[in-house]
Amino acid sequence: MLPLFEMFPELSRSLPYVRLCELPTPVLPLHTAAEKLELESLYIKQDGLTARPFGGNKVRKLEFLLGEANARGAKEVLTYGYAGSNHALATAVHCGRLGMKSISMLMHQENARYVRQNLLFGLKQAGEFHVYPDKHSLFRASKYQTFRHFLKTLKMPVVIPPGGSSPLGVTGYVNAALELKQQIDKKELPEPDLVYLPMGTAGTLCGLKIGFAVAGLKSQLIPIRVVDHSFTTGTMIMDLLSRTVSFLRSMTPEFPELSFSEAQLGVRDQYLGKGYTHFTEAGTEAALWLSEIENIMLDGTYTAKAFSALMDDGRQGKLKDKTVLYWHTLNAFDFSTDIKGMDYKNLPRPLHRYFEQDVQQLDVL
Ligand SMILES: *Cc1c(COP(=O)(O)O)cnc(C)c1O
Repeated sequence: MLPLFEMFPELSRSLPYVRLCELPTPVLPLHTAAEKLELESLYIKQDGLTARPFGGNKVRKLEFLLGEANARGAKEVLTYGYAGSNHALATAVHCGRLGMKSISMLMHQENARYVRQNLLFGLKQAGEFHVYPDKHSLFRASKYQTFRHFLKTLKMPVVIPPGGSSPLGVTGYVNAALELKQQIDKKELPEPDLVYLPMGTAGTLCGLKIGFAVAGLKSQLIPIRVVDHSFTTGTMIMDLLSRTVSFLRSMTPEFPELSFSEAQLGVRDQYLGKGYTHFTEAGTEAALWLSEIENIMLDGTYTAKAFSALMDDGRQGKLKDKTVLYWHTLNAFDFSTDIKGMDYKNLPRPLHRYFEQDVQQLDVL
């Protein structure tokens, strides 16, 4: 049973949920990396292994989001992302397992090898793709698409926000925090002083923040911004925190009233580089380093930026007596054999550019 349901039994009756993940995900010590960075100890929370055949952080959110779509008897789910979106792909893959279809509303990004792989795996799920040049046309088109699909199936597609970061999706990471607390109680790791993670739509961050407060964990979260400031502002994060707490309190009065301050968020902005999906030199260096010494693969958009912050802090001697947890959010399963022989020409025309143009110069991953 999910730790969240053990702690608040009423939530197991009031929340929609469908099991997609193999939980708990492992916590593993990274001895060599810890030694080289001179940390007291370093652990990884391996959320790359949440689910087969495509894991990562989005699947924890989807257990609740697709649980709701399933409970409503939906046939289709519509969601948003950039061309190489892990969220859009996770939605397509896990919708397929539940007999639903996904509609991905996409925008353009910097090119990278993982974009090609994600698009081909998405194509394999027989989901639908639409591509738009800007937010405004994306929004207009999503109204058009929901209506078009309603006329076709006589059922509204369930709409999932970008990154799955609604209060219901964030609930997946409230549970993840309680899962970590159980692993600490079982002595799989000591209570971390610091927890590093990448921050996009901030659903992962908000869920962990709420869950740490509920579990009484004092670990400090260090979110590394990987999206532009206007995409996820401090106000938006505060709003998502309070909406999630209100939502859970509406589902069970046992859930505690919690409040947070914007000054405490501590979002690190300096690892973003030129912007979302633009790889950085520091990130590429971190990815090469970690794959060599620990055989863990990072991506240039999210996890390499987060890990490079951790490396910097370690090298500057800021983590000498600290227990540090790196929360890994990137899918860790290899799906290259699943996409063998898939032809990108079967994707909508505007997506062909990711296969016909070069990847970024720093893309060695
Ligand atoms: C989406 C994603 C994130 C960001 O998670 P948010 O909840 O949107 O902040 C981090 N890492 C990876 C690999 C992701 O795909």
